[in-house]
Parts: sequence; structure tokens; C-alpha cells
Amino acid sequence: MRRIWRVCRGSVAGGIPVSDENSRASANRAARNEKKEAYLRAIYDRYTAEFRAAENQDALTIARSTHSTMDTVLQADRAKNPGSENIRCGKSCSHCCREAVEIWPQEAALLAGVVRETGMVLDMARLERQSAYTVDTWRQQPPADKACLFLGSDGACTVYESRPNACRKLLVVTDPALCDAEKSKPDSVGRWFSWEAELMESAALEVFGAALMPAALLAALSAK
Ligand code: SF4
Repeated sequence: MRRIWRVCRGSVAGGIPVSDENSRASANRAARNEKKEAYLRAIYDRYTAEFRAAENQDALTIARSTHSTMDTVLQADRAKNPGSENIRCGKSCSHCCREAVEIWPQEAALLAGVVRETGMVLDMARLERQSAYTVDTWRQQPPADKACLFLGSDGACTVYESRPNACRKLLVVTDPALCDAEKSKPDSVGRWFSWEAELMESAALEVFGAALMPAALLAALSAK
């Protein structure tokens, strides 16, 4: 399992011998970290088991139900987290839609279904070009090629109801102006973060398989 949590480290001061205090603080930190790690692992294992049990269902059922679960998780976590009211994502703020997006095959099947049902015309030449890039090389594309094929000219997602979970959970709390990678440093963007959403998506990518959206979509559109 990808370790997506970090162990916190800090310093301790006090009026008892430093070595005793240090070792006690160190033991307490280790115990807290162990407890947190066990808690997070339990969430990951639960989703892994759920996805393994669902693997034989049809692709669209898996995609829709997993998207619905993601929305529920995010809604519940946002209700509990006071910082989440600062989420600034909105129409036309679409920097994330120019980044590499990992999805699983059932999400690709759902998107391909939307394309077929709506008669949406995709720029297949650009999709082919995008498919040649990996997570590591994605940013080497010409700027005009990087945008997701589903990003509308008004900056809105044209498949919003069927967008992948990677898009659902990516929520930014800093000024949308900072999302412009040409003008701001990437680390100036602050994200609101749900552990459960991250672990759930890690489990889905692990169980169902991960691919960048262009390659996965191309495969799904080619499938009968
Ligand atoms: S599917 Fe929609 S939200 Fe996700 S990257 Fe594409 S345009 Fe953006």
C-alpha cells in the first residue's frame, strides 16, 4: 500500500531529565503514530475488500456506486472540517484539468459511455497524442495539448456528473489565481484533504488498476 500519511516529528522541552523526557515523548509519539497508522490502514483495507468483492459487477455499476460513495465521504468530511468552507474550486478554475489524471478502467468505461450516448465529438488526434505521455512526462506536452478533452471552452467540465474520483477529491482552498502554473509556484496552492477520500481512491486504483485518463479512455472507446 502506498504510504500517504506522514509521521510527525517534533522537539520536547521540560523540567525533568532531558533523556527521560525525550524517550517518554518519543515513545508517546511512536504510540500515537502507530495508532493513526492502524486506523488509516483499517480504512484502506476496508475499501480494498469492498472493491475486491465488487470486481465482478459491471463496470458502470462499479463506477457510479464508487463515485457516489466518494461524494458521500467528501460531504461528511467537509461537514466535520471547519477549513473546508474555504474551498475555492469553481467553474473556469480549471488548472487541475491540465494535469495528469489517473483513473481506473470502470471510470473510463463510464466516460466512453457518456461520449457514445451524447454523441460528444472528441479531438481524437489530441487524445492519441496525450496517450503517449506518462505521469512523469505529462508536463512536457505543448500547453495547448494538456487540457482534458472534457474541459469545455467555458472552463467547465462537460462530463461533470460522471467525472472520475480523482477530479472529485481534488479541492483547493487558496486563491484560484494561484492555480495558474505559469504565474505561481506549485507549492503555493493549498489543498483541502480528506484522508478517507485519499485512501479510498488508493484502494480503487490498486484493486481495479490505474492508467492516465487519455490512455484509459482510448482503450474504452475502442472496446465494443
Ligand atoms: S473529467 Fe472534468 S473535472 Fe476531470 S480533468 Fe476532465 S474536465 Fe477536469
